[in-house]
Amino acid sequence: MPPSPEHVRFHPTVPPRFAPLPSAPDVAVIGAGAAGIAAARRLIARGLSVAVLEARDRVGGRAFTTALRGHPIDLGAHWLHAGPVNPLVALGHARGEPLRRAAQDGHLWVGRRRGRTAEQAAFGRAFDVADRAMTLAAGLREDGPASSAVPPSLGPWRERISLVHALVSGRPLQEVSLHDWPSLEYGDNFFVSGGYGAYLARLALDLPIRLSAPVAALDTTGPGVAIRLDDGGTLGVRAVIVTVPIPVLQRSVRFEPPLPARTRGAIDGFLSGTYEHVVLHWPSAPFCGRDRLASIVGGRHKPPGMLTRIDGTPFHYFEIDTAFARAADALRAGPDAERRLARAVLAEHFGHRALRDLAIPAVTGWRHDPYAAGSWAVVPPGHAPARAILGEPVADRIWFAGEAHSRQQWGTAGGAFEEGGRAAEAVADHLSARGPRAGA
Ligand SMILES: Cc1cc2nc3c(=O)[nH]c(=O)nc-3n(C[C@H](O)[C@H](O)[C@H](O)COP(=O)(O)OP(=O)(O)OC[C@H]3O[C@@H](n4cnc5c(N)ncnc54)[C@H](O)[C@@H]3O)c2cc1C
Repeated sequence: MPPSPEHVRFHPTVPPRFAPLPSAPDVAVIGAGAAGIAAARRLIARGLSVAVLEARDRVGGRAFTTALRGHPIDLGAHWLHAGPVNPLVALGHARGEPLRRAAQDGHLWVGRRRGRTAEQAAFGRAFDVADRAMTLAAGLREDGPASSAVPPSLGPWRERISLVHALVSGRPLQEVSLHDWPSLEYGDNFFVSGGYGAYLARLALDLPIRLSAPVAALDTTGPGVAIRLDDGGTLGVRAVIVTVPIPVLQRSVRFEPPLPARTRGAIDGFLSGTYEHVVLHWPSAPFCGRDRLASIVGGRHKPPGMLTRIDGTPFHYFEIDTAFARAADALRAGPDAERRLARAVLAEHFGHRALRDLAIPAVTGWRHDPYAAGSWAVVPPGHAPARAILGEPVADRIWFAGEAHSRQQWGTAGGAFEEGGRAAEAVADHLSARGPRAGA
């Protein structure tokens, strides 16, 4: 058995306040993460009665803000990516949420010293060259591993750029579809003061949500959908929007009758991506300026990525990718393995003395979390049509939504929110075309 993830022990900063479930809802939404919250809000706006069933004892899913040493810290999603297309940015502006634009510049650390200006510029240019080459290759070639399109001409920066892209992809680039990769829109990012998880939790306030209600099975053999909960309870509805993470769908939600082969194949072909935060509290860290990315290159250990001075505090993320997580899991020491490995990497680049005031108050383990089983879903080579297939309803009663559906914003809370809203519109259109529930 994998160790229980440490992040489940933390509490959300926004206290729950939900409406009771209606006695005979039209639609059930399974999961109260970004997609489920968006779906519920949109269905209610369309005049439908809704019941949201959430397995955890909190909302937000993989967007989760807790308080560490008095500061709100995100243990999952933190960046509002792709500002121009992210609906949570537009909604945040409309609501007066405290959004701030992310800085464009970052830190470069080479071995045991700061990167020089010329190195910074060369690194930036190499990123642009890689992005252009990969986007071009995706349009011209058959699908294959994204790694095959990283140009050899990047010289010394090639390894670093591959590492960064693998980190944000959730898998080594050999395991990522070239056709899927460039679809992600990453420009013009924002942060929200108080945390992304807290923002989503505010959007969920007063929705009809039942917590601690894991769904075990969905049955469409009769009229409508019969939902079976883990605790033996049942609920009957006209339609369902399932926002459960893809790896959870692969393992633990049953469908009766079984899903069509096309839908099942799309779900089962995804890989589970790994991206975890080791949260550092490090007042004397050599990085200045709030919310800067740090790239550390050279040396024996190659840390995949860091975000420094989060919100202007002494907190930093040391990010963990698939390779690092596998190395940590092999030590069988739970989150202390990540703590040890992160310290070893930082000691190599900054020296042991620099770590005298370093504490690591939290390490996430989304890959071991039974209601996430990974950080986001990854499309391997040859599986690029899967996101669109997931958008097709099953038996005109089951719709799927979540981060994995989004072509333009895959793997993100913004993409999940967009897809939740899209599924809700489709369900509302479908039910209004069929007229009111019999007996209603
Ligand atoms: C460490 C980390 C950092 C990240 N950083 C960013 C970032 O900076 N920016 C960004 O945009 N994205 C980021 N992401 C990705 C982002 O968090 C996800 O893409 C997004 O939150 C997914 O939303 P969702 O609604 O699709 O799924 P989820 O948020 O996972 O919601 C699904 C919900 O379904 C519930 N559920 C599961 N099984 C059941 C069941 N059987 N019955 C009922 N409910 C169930 C879950 O508990 C969960 O609440 C990060 C993810 C991680 C892990």
